[in-house]
Amino acid sequence: MNKTLIALLGILGWTSFAHGYSFDRSLPKDVADQMKQDLEFVATIQGTQATPLHQQIFGKVNGTGYKTFFESRINLIGFNSCGGGSAVACVIPFMGSDKMWVTRNYIKFSHPQVARLMVVFHESRHSEVRNGNWAHATCPMPFLDENGNDKKSIWTGAELAGQDACDETPFGSYGSSTIMLKNVSKFCENCTDKVKFDAGLYADDQMGRIIDQNAIDRMKKDLYQ
Ligand SMILES: [Zn+2]
Repeated sequence: MNKTLIALLGILGWTSFAHGYSFDRSLPKDVADQMKQDLEFVATIQGTQATPLHQQIFGKVNGTGYKTFFESRINLIGFNSCGGGSAVACVIPFMGSDKMWVTRNYIKFSHPQVARLMVVFHESRHSEVRNGNWAHATCPMPFLDENGNDKKSIWTGAELAGQDACDETPFGSYGSSTIMLKNVSKFCENCTDKVKFDAGLYADDQMGRIIDQNAIDRMKKDLYQ
C-alpha cells in the first residue's frame, strides 16, 4: 500500500490492520479491543471433526477456517446503534454488505467469549448478498418454550414473539451459528471445558430460534444424535 493511500485512509477514519478487516475509528477502543481479542481467539480453535452441516458451511472445526470465513465476508467494522434498544450488532445491506456494525451492547453484558463470537458469525452470515443476506423469519405469536414460558433473547432478555428473530433454514444466521457453536462444543480439541460448555449452552439456545420443522429435524439429526 503506498503512502498516499495510507494517508487517505487515515483521513477517512479507517484503522487498517494486518487482518483482512479494519476498524472504523468511531468504534470505541474498548469495543474494538474486545472484538480483536475474540477474533484472535477463534483463530486458535483446533479440531479434526465436524458434522455434515458444519462441513458444508464452515469446513472442519478449525480456527483458520473460521478466520477465513469471517475475513472473506467482513471488511470493515464500525459503530452504529443498529436501530437502538437491545441490538448488539448488525449488517445494514444498503450501507454495504461487507460492513459489520457493532453497538456498545457488545461489551455491556457479561456474556462469555463464545457468545460474542456467536454474534460476530451471525452477522458475517448476513453479509451474503447472493443469499438475500439471509433475512430472518418472524417468530410466532405466542412463542413458547417447552415449559410454556415466553421465549426470550439469551443476550438481552427481550421477548421474541412476533419479532424478526427466527429462521426457517439451518443455513441462515441463527442456524449457522448454532451449527458452529455446537461443533465447537463437541469437537474442539484445545478449548477449555468452560468454552465447550458455553458453546453448547448458546448453541442450544439459538437452536430454539429455528421454527421450520424440516430444518429442526435436519439440525437435530446433524448436531444432537
Ligand atoms: Zn440476524
